[in-house]
Amino acid sequence: MKFASVAHAFEKIEFISSRLEITGILAELFSKAEKEEIGNLMYLCQGSVAPKFKGVDIGMGEKLVESAIASAMGFSKREVEELYFKLGDLGLVSMELASQRKQRSLFSRELSINEVYSSMMKIATSGGSGSQDLKIKVLVDLLGNASPVEAKFLTRFPVGAMRLGVGDPTILDALSIRAAGDKSLRETIERAYNLRSDLGLVATILFEKGIEGLKGINVEAGVPLRPALGERLPSAQEIIKKLGKCAVEGKYDGLRCQLHKKGDEITLFSRKLENITSMFPEVVAAGKKLNAKELIIEGEALAFNPATEEFYPFQVTIQRKRKYGIEKMSEDLPLSLVVFDVILIDGTDCTVKPYSERRKIIESLIEENNTFKLSRQIITDSAEKINEFFEVCLEAGLEGVMAKDLSAQYTAGKRKFAWVKLKRSYKGELADTIDAVILGLFVGKGKKVKFGYSAFLCGVLDPEKDVFRTICKVSSGLSEEELIGINQLIKKDIVSVKPKEIESEIEPDAWVVPRYVFELTADEITVSPVHTCGRNTKSGYALRFPRIKGGLRFDKDPSSATTEKEVIDMYKMQSSVEVQD
Ligand code: AMP
Repeated sequence: MKFASVAHAFEKIEFISSRLEITGILAELFSKAEKEEIGNLMYLCQGSVAPKFKGVDIGMGEKLVESAIASAMGFSKREVEELYFKLGDLGLVSMELASQRKQRSLFSRELSINEVYSSMMKIATSGGSGSQDLKIKVLVDLLGNASPVEAKFLTRFPVGAMRLGVGDPTILDALSIRAAGDKSLRETIERAYNLRSDLGLVATILFEKGIEGLKGINVEAGVPLRPALGERLPSAQEIIKKLGKCAVEGKYDGLRCQLHKKGDEITLFSRKLENITSMFPEVVAAGKKLNAKELIIEGEALAFNPATEEFYPFQVTIQRKRKYGIEKMSEDLPLSLVVFDVILIDGTDCTVKPYSERRKIIESLIEENNTFKLSRQIITDSAEKINEFFEVCLEAGLEGVMAKDLSAQYTAGKRKFAWVKLKRSYKGELADTIDAVILGLFVGKGKKVKFGYSAFLCGVLDPEKDVFRTICKVSSGLSEEELIGINQLIKKDIVSVKPKEIESEIEPDAWVVPRYVFELTADEITVSPVHTCGRNTKSGYALRFPRIKGGLRFDKDPSSATTEKEVIDMYKMQSSVEVQD
């Protein structure tokens, strides 16, 4: 398959906003790929060269990319810089200069998708002395053989600015259409993706073995699965009405962590499926002693004070997520993993077992010590007992409780009533926080002007349509340092045109690629004439007096942000919540 086909499809997609049309273009593109190309094509569509959990970053500094463009197109670095200043997008610079270039290199050849993929992989994985020159050389070679449209996308890959505005749900739909002509296979394809988190692998199996091949996909130690998510209900009574007799556990406020064991090798993954093994050495050491050759368990990692036997709040735990001084930190602020689920043990896929059985497996596996603990649990069919346990949990400093359907399977990547959370609600405050994605920025006024952008347009997710809809403009809750840090960080994600995955009627001072998550609290959810959240039902919804809790949430991903449906459910629940002063 020629890379030109990919570039032309991407070019079309960039200027279209209809999801249906985009899905059609992708399905047609996928049908041109061979079995040995489709995996690579998946990663390129995701703007990457590997599934996220492998942590392979194409990342090439802008200065290096400018050098490559200059050398491939026969212009001076100064000319490239000036044009970049004018256009603000190195992809466009590359396209423009490629069209001005008198002739392509002498040995010009058509680029294939696999050649582009392996070159990007080379750029991503070369390190050490001389690697900068090598990266430039590889990109120059590609650009030297590229048409203007190809040059645009070849340049955007290494600077991490693909901006296709196509998320995983759209790609999953397109795969189904490619295989069956409609979306009927979406659920099976998505299940496989939820279990293996690797679109390249899923598409390759689909192309090689068909949908039956995908049905046979299982979890594997060392490969993270997309975490199950919980729903909400407003009261213990509602929980009993929905689940009947259920398990009720403490809801711990730390960092979600998947522990994988393969023989002696331990790997830890975050909720976003980043490899965080090196950050928590004490969990790795304790994990090696677990009595299983092959294992995946899940829990919440929290900083723990062995002297008082108390867990620290989230803000203390988050200090453990760092790259340097890890050993010292693990002594000063040891972590515990509160285990609450098992996914795989010695060849047995536990995702299909009911929770009651999974819990028994955890209980026989985990011997409690300073590092491993079991989530505290009661089993009950009484709302009163839930409320009593809820109070005990709050006294122990926990966030609330998590009720669990005893007969439910582990629902990877899905928000289901298998888990239902219940948090404390205060008078005049939402019963639960909202994980909202930053979509736009506003320049501060008055005293805040010196920080640059200080108010944020935030939105929630519609996973079906693969779009974000606005829910509030928020500016309170950040310290000065946090504001400065965010302004610094977000600079590279500012775009002049509204990304197509954003639906907004508000025009901020700058748009941002949806990448960063804030946890927001608010007084309540109100009906809104300006915000687009919920618009496709009756009216829009907004957060009243929103506030940011705890700065940017690096442990959360836009793809698992609060959904529009959850906001609507929370709005309906508001009136039935019993509040406390
Ligand atoms: P939320 O992030 O508020 O939607 O709540 C879901 C999160 O609660 C999960 O992602 C876990 O990280 C966390 N959690 C804390 N305690 C438990 C528990 N006992 N069972 C399941 N999840 C838990």
